[in-house]
Order: sequence, then structure tokens, then C-alpha cells
Amino acid sequence: MKRRDFITTAVLGAGTLAFSGCHRAEKQTAENTVNINKGKKVTLKLATSWPAHFPIMGTGVDTFAKRCFELSGGTLEIKVYPKNILVPALQVFDATSAAQIDAFHSGVYYWKGKNPAFSIFGGMPLGLLSEEMITWFKFGGGYELWREMYGKFNLYPLIGGTTGPQMGGWFKKEINSLSDLKGLKMRIPGLGGEVMKKLGVNPVLLPAGEIYTALERGTIDATEWVGPALDSMMGFDKAAHYYYTGWHEPGSILEITFNKARWEKLSPEHQAIITAASEEMTGTMLQEFRYKNAKALQELPDYVQIKNFPPEFFTAAKKALREVLAEQSRESADFKRVLESYQSFYALNEPWSDISTKHLLEIRN
Ligand code: CA
Repeated sequence: MKRRDFITTAVLGAGTLAFSGCHRAEKQTAENTVNINKGKKVTLKLATSWPAHFPIMGTGVDTFAKRCFELSGGTLEIKVYPKNILVPALQVFDATSAAQIDAFHSGVYYWKGKNPAFSIFGGMPLGLLSEEMITWFKFGGGYELWREMYGKFNLYPLIGGTTGPQMGGWFKKEINSLSDLKGLKMRIPGLGGEVMKKLGVNPVLLPAGEIYTALERGTIDATEWVGPALDSMMGFDKAAHYYYTGWHEPGSILEITFNKARWEKLSPEHQAIITAASEEMTGTMLQEFRYKNAKALQELPDYVQIKNFPPEFFTAAKKALREVLAEQSRESADFKRVLESYQSFYALNEPWSDISTKHLLEIRN
């Protein structure tokens, strides 16, 4: 073969190969697209416990739905219904369990009446931070227990955001001693509410949107909500005394929970997309809370007095928490099991947390 002929043949050959390779890739992409799209379009109804497009939590779930749609090439549509459109804010659990709707976005601690153990999945007073909580769920056995126990209600839960550390709450009157707490009506959910009850507070559970009116009308004397970003938007700064820190919610977990039978009927692709979008949502929400809380703290009106609780408060709260955990463990085998798993991870995590996060926060600056 002459050199020129060789070059021509080689070039032609390479061209043919490249062309056929390219063609194959195109064909494969088309087939993949067909695979994702060939199932009929799925539309799910998701109700939340928040008002429409409520900042950070509500916009977070709006973005989650948008991402599911984008990532699925439009085959998975999650319709988000704000509270009270399909079901009242605190009935989303029951409605999803009964398959009246497909899913909900809410806070886990709202459901302690269903099973006391659920309050631990929502977060532990004076306990793990958001990142640590998520680590317990994913690596320390938390998810297994949560899914087992929610499974009994025909539910499949995913972490659907987390708040990071919260604030201790807004009080109309100053808290200078434990006796100032006695008889106060305070909106505070979960185990934190149980602790406050031991300190003489009357804890009340109110969803977002009903708290401001209750505070203004004097139905409650104090409220916690989340942190500077959301609290000042709700108008709570009228209570003037703003206490830190959110000892009762150091890392609260929100949930995107599906009707289990509905979840199991979803394709593996749609399940994977929902799982990925929920993780994206959780990370973004934590970052958004940090940024907006930091900014809102700088912008609080001058008349807001930011105060720490008296030291005796934390001593009493720790003692009360130990009592609450012991009582609930005696009353509920599920609570005891979840607490043991949580505490086992806590014990593993604490020495590392001490010499890493805690120490770095002390020495930086
Ligand atoms: Ca809160």
C-alpha cells in the first residue's frame, strides 16, 4: 500500500469509527431519555405545614418540587399545597398516612402524640447540631429506626431540611430567675416543651401563622419560633426580650414524608431523584438559614434586647431533660430504643466534636 493510500484509508477508517461511535452515543442517550420518559407522567400531591411560599421552609419545598421536575425531565411533578388548602397544617401526617395526599413537608416534633419516639427524630434539646443529627440518621442507625416506626403509619420519611441552631424565644417579660418562668404560657413544641413544663411553663403547640395573633392577644406570654431571619419577619420583635440560645432546638429536622405504598410504586429513577433533591434541599436550607440569620441579627431593631437565660436556667433544664427522657423511656419502648441509638451515636461523636468543632469555635478569631 502506498503511503498516501494508507493515510486515506486510515483517515476514512477513523472517520467511520468516530461517526459510528458518535451515532451509538446519540442512540444511547435517546434510549435513556426514552427509558426515563416512557413511564407515564407521575403527579404527586404534597401538603405542607407552612403558609404559601413561606421563606426558607416554604421556598425550600417549592425548589425541591422544581428540582424533581427538572431532574426527571418533566416526568415527576410534585404539586405543593400550602397549609389549609388541602389539609390543615397539623393534619398532614394523618392525611398522608391515609393516602388522601401523597406526601407532606413538616417538622417531625409535631407528631409526638402519634409516638413519643418521633420527638427524638425531630431533634434533642441540649443535644446534637444539624450536621450531627443528619450524621446519626445516615450513618448511626437513625434512618432505619425512623423508617421502621413511620412504616407502621404507612409512611416513608426523608430528611427535608434542617434549621441549624435556633433562638431561645421571645418573652414579653424579662427572665431573671426560674420563678419568672412559672405560669408562663409559651409556644414551644417537642421535648423542649416537656422540659419547660417541668419548670412551671405551660407549653402550647401552635403552627406558623397563628403565633403572632396569640402573642398579641395575650393568649401566650412567650414564643420560640426559629431564629432572627424568620422571627423578625413574623413580627415577634414586639415581645422585645429575645433570648439565646435555642437550647431546645440545636438542630431541628424537617421532613419530606411520603405515603409508603405510593413511594413503593414510584420507579427507582423517581425515588432516586426525590432522594437526591431532598438532600440538596437539606444542604441549601441549612446554608440559607445561616446566612439569613446572621444578616437578620445585625438588622434587629434597637429596642430588641438580646439576652442569655440565667445560668440556673440551663442547670434546671438539663435536670428536667434527664427526668423527661427517663419518664418517656419507661412509658414507651420505642422511645427507649430510639434514645439508646441516639445516645450511642452521641457518645461516639462527642470526643471528636470536643476537639474539633467546639475547640475551633473557641480558638478562632
Ligand atoms: Ca422552633
